[in-house]
Amino acid sequence: MSNTYAEELKVGLTAVRMAAKICRVVQAAITPEVLDKKDNSPVTVADFASQAVVCHAIGEAFPDDPVIAEEDSLALHQPENEHFLREIHQLICDHYREAFPDEIRNWIDRGGAKNYSARFWTLDPIDGTKGFLRRDQYAISLALIIDGQIKIGILGCPNLGTRNQSGDSLFYAILGQGAFALRLDADSEPRRIHVTEMTDPTLARFCESFESSHSSHNESAIIAETLGIKAGPVRMDSQAKYAMVAAGEADVYLRLPAKTGYFEKIWDHAGGVLIVTEAGGTVTDLQGKLLDFSKGHELRENRGIIVTNGPLHAAILGTAQSVTSESAALK
Ligand code: AMP
Ligand code: MG
Repeated sequence: MSNTYAEELKVGLTAVRMAAKICRVVQAAITPEVLDKKDNSPVTVADFASQAVVCHAIGEAFPDDPVIAEEDSLALHQPENEHFLREIHQLICDHYREAFPDEIRNWIDRGGAKNYSARFWTLDPIDGTKGFLRRDQYAISLALIIDGQIKIGILGCPNLGTRNQSGDSLFYAILGQGAFALRLDADSEPRRIHVTEMTDPTLARFCESFESSHSSHNESAIIAETLGIKAGPVRMDSQAKYAMVAAGEADVYLRLPAKTGYFEKIWDHAGGVLIVTEAGGTVTDLQGKLLDFSKGHELRENRGIIVTNGPLHAAILGTAQSVTSESAALK
């Protein structure tokens, strides 16, 4: 019988739900006064706590599985950061389980794998940190990769339910078994999701990063103009953009390199990519190649990311290629 990854899915969903609960508690307490301190402390605390909880849950269920995650506990060993560790410890004891601060640092460091292996998980404990601080969109992204193939993708997008039609904010996909959406807090039946059937680029709804340093807004505007796309871009932080395309709330997500020499990180994409492709969509880089998750923590073989519902892919990719190569020639 082929592996249905039922146990991995169950553990992954429970872990992401738990992490989301902690992130929500922290986000709800963000006030202008807290932000005035400018030390990003809310996102630091939530980020570490989220990684600790997810890595611990995976480690308990699958002790041999490495996790390639965004954070490590180095900073939490500095005496000046002791207050962060105290807050993280408190959150975990209040909302997850009793543990010593040292144990929590070890849980975080279970996410310290960097190299490719035949089976591993990748985690972004809070994707879209700026959105988190703005009390806007962010995501907890988790994926299981085996032999370079994404087998499971999970996205918890705690604030997405307030802006999409369904109210769902937890998304997952299993390779070959489709993509689904459900409630993040309460138990609900998973609902199969699909990309749109849009074929007319002029009517396409596209999303992109809120940050122009993560994806070129200038180039996306030229692509939109060239194709006659009427609607303005939806700007949003995090992999919630993948969920938007997968659930048919948007037709296209563009990520156009804004800086030279930056390689995309696998934890910023693995969860979202499988959810879009299992919902019927297409994800490639700017050359039209599939993303290569077999090169360690970075997407070293890919540059730029084009996500579409499928029917629009050729038109969007072709235009993106000509616009980005033209602007590269001008630089
Ligand atoms: P987004 O919310 O879509 O803007 O993506 C957030 C992610 O962008 C973060 O998790 C960072 O890892 C990643 N990032 C940081 N610098 C860059 C960059 N120069 N280009 C693309 N992505 C970046
Ligand atoms: Mg990220």
